[in-house]
Amino acid sequence: MLYRLFLGLLLFFSLNIIGQENYPQDEFRSPLDIPLILAGTFGELRSNHFHSGIDIKTQQRQGLPVFAIGNGTVTRIKVSLYGYGKVMYVAHPNGYTSVYGHLQKFAPEIEAYIKNKQYNKKSYEVEVFPDYGEVKVEKGKVIAYSGNTGGSSGPHLHFEIRSSISEKPTNPLLYGLEVRDATNPILNKLFAYPLSKKAQVNQSNAKVELNFSKQKDGSFLADKVTAIGTIGFGFAGFDRQDMAANKNGIYSVQLLVNGEIYTDYDFEAFSFTETRYINTLVDYDHYGKYRQKIQQCFLAQGNRLSIYNVLKNDGKIVVKDGLSYSVELLLRDLEGNLTKAIIPVEGKIEPLKIKKEETKTDTYVIAKKPNNYDLGAAKVYFPANTFYKNFYIDLKKGKDTVTIHNSRVPAHRNFTITFDASAYSKDERKQLFIARLDKKLQSSYASTYKRGNSFTTRTRNLGTYTLSKDTIAPKIRAKNFKEKQWLNNYSYLSVLISDDLSGVDTYSATLNGEWILMEYESKKNTLTYNFEDKVLTDKQYNLKVVVTDNVGNSSTLTSTFYRK
Ligand SMILES: [Zn+2]
Repeated sequence: MLYRLFLGLLLFFSLNIIGQENYPQDEFRSPLDIPLILAGTFGELRSNHFHSGIDIKTQQRQGLPVFAIGNGTVTRIKVSLYGYGKVMYVAHPNGYTSVYGHLQKFAPEIEAYIKNKQYNKKSYEVEVFPDYGEVKVEKGKVIAYSGNTGGSSGPHLHFEIRSSISEKPTNPLLYGLEVRDATNPILNKLFAYPLSKKAQVNQSNAKVELNFSKQKDGSFLADKVTAIGTIGFGFAGFDRQDMAANKNGIYSVQLLVNGEIYTDYDFEAFSFTETRYINTLVDYDHYGKYRQKIQQCFLAQGNRLSIYNVLKNDGKIVVKDGLSYSVELLLRDLEGNLTKAIIPVEGKIEPLKIKKEETKTDTYVIAKKPNNYDLGAAKVYFPANTFYKNFYIDLKKGKDTVTIHNSRVPAHRNFTITFDASAYSKDERKQLFIARLDKKLQSSYASTYKRGNSFTTRTRNLGTYTLSKDTIAPKIRAKNFKEKQWLNNYSYLSVLISDDLSGVDTYSATLNGEWILMEYESKKNTLTYNFEDKVLTDKQYNLKVVVTDNVGNSSTLTSTFYRK
């Protein structure tokens, strides 16, 4: 009985210390048969989201065999031009689902199964949900080959382990996969934030950067901070595993005040519904200005993340005159490598030297309420809770443009911008689209919904928008073959496609009038047809490729070749 109690307590404490549930340790194998070197960790801070898996480096190559990490059944396969590109989901009997993304292709049987769907649907992009048990896989069998498809900027395997029921992504390194890591997390910068109305840090009412230096014991010591009122801290840093220089995310962050934990969060798991709240964990204004992500160790306005294990007083410290505080920042990776910084704080009322006032405009947005604005050229509608906090928004009316503040304020929800195109003729309207203008006035296409004279886009990007015209049809040309050529030894056909202004919307290709699958790699502007797809029995072939841009301009390439 006592022994049981002891075991129970031991389990209770060890769970509490690590803050993890029991993830199966010996059930899964590695998805690759090379040493795991990571280009990205779970929870890593990405643009508008936390990274939901690990990115495993594939030796700068594509086509490495990808293995099922356990027995299971394929529950979903998606082929997309964006996101995970070609991706496979395998549900395992232990309640977890493994996800393999940016694949080059699937193992032959699964590839044939997907090709069949693609030819039936006459579309490169498909998504299928096989019935449970329809496509089974075995632990250690090849299920696919690694690639670079979708929104991937270099060959790697994006690998996830989700809870099958909640679909919550969990940290794949909690399942006993071996990744060598003897490197401590790296602390780049420290910041102190005055948070209450009359708070100050080092005689400033705006955030200040803190100097720190390395001590003999390896920890960092910051210069003493004088402060008064409610303050918080933030840091910029990254983690590195062995064998690679990649700047990856840090697993766990703790902030202690006089030995008491004020903030404790880690990347054990999160949910997709909360991932965009990353914009409240990082100091978004700072990110907009300097492209550097400060993780705020206090709960900023609008933050609804569930990653916190402890949050005392929202991670904020109330500094009183005459008292001293020892603030400790602890950064850990999953191997327990620790980086520690100590920030001595002294409560002191001092004259304010650096005074920063909020920039005021005519328009104060109440985040909780829906807001409508008429900006001449366009109307803007922000639904309730588009923003995380109330602020003075800068709205500018141009002759043909509208400027909605700037990109340093994040929007959580989509808002709408509606242009009136009645000044244009019906023919002109066809070629018009809503464009977002960057700082250099380069325009990019914003998905434009047209209803009569009313053109609307839904976006979460603040900035400058205008109506732009695209009169030029897409360009198409053969890449690896010529007109009237014999292509007996060719294994594939390659065609280059591009569109300057509004961008490529759709494409389709036929061979002697029959639809053929061409895989679109938008990073390389190429369409590829694989001769293995069909048994060709004719001698002369007419290839026809039609490409349409986002306003409906279209181009056609026709070419004849021979093959026997
Ligand atoms: Zn990834």
